[in-house]
Amino acid sequence: MWDVHSDEWWMHALEGTLTGEEQRVWELHLCECTACREEWAALAQLDLVLNAAPEPPLPVNFAQNTIAKVLHAQRRRRVWTIFGSIATLFLAAVILLVAFGPALPEISRAAAAINVSRDVLFQALMRIAVQVIAAGKMFTPVALGVAAACFFFLMPNGVLATLAIVMMRKKQAAQYIEVQS
Ligand SMILES: [Zn+2]
Repeated sequence: MWDVHSDEWWMHALEGTLTGEEQRVWELHLCECTACREEWAALAQLDLVLNAAPEPPLPVNFAQNTIAKVLHAQRRRRVWTIFGSIATLFLAAVILLVAFGPALPEISRAAAAINVSRDVLFQALMRIAVQVIAAGKMFTPVALGVAAACFFFLMPNGVLATLAIVMMRKKQAAQYIEVQS
């Protein structure tokens, strides 16, 4: 009828959730079965010891401190996400500037814009790199990848722009010398 040696039975017996009839069966069985009697006595002793042991003391304001820490971490994560979005938007703006820069009527101004944007981009790239190292966050590698791609994309343009400026200056100087002589 009942399996008094099953885990389920022992769980109910330990939790005191046996029915009245089951309880009678259990007490009868404990009188007859030495193995169960000994284990039951040992468990009763263990239960006494566990109940007598003092609960580990929690630090004062434990709950408040934990909540504050979690909130602080969430806030910091939000700030980093915003920073990543701004950096990505900034880099996109720089790409657009560079892409449409050469179309400007004055080549020298476009070249200067490219050079300036390259410097700004490089500074932004370095700043992002430092922030990534400092923060160790997951979203920033994306921004860093975009920044790196932009930087390598801009590098030849910057070099070409510098060459153009140098050539134009040389031409102007040659014209100036021609006029002088
Ligand atoms: Zn037994």
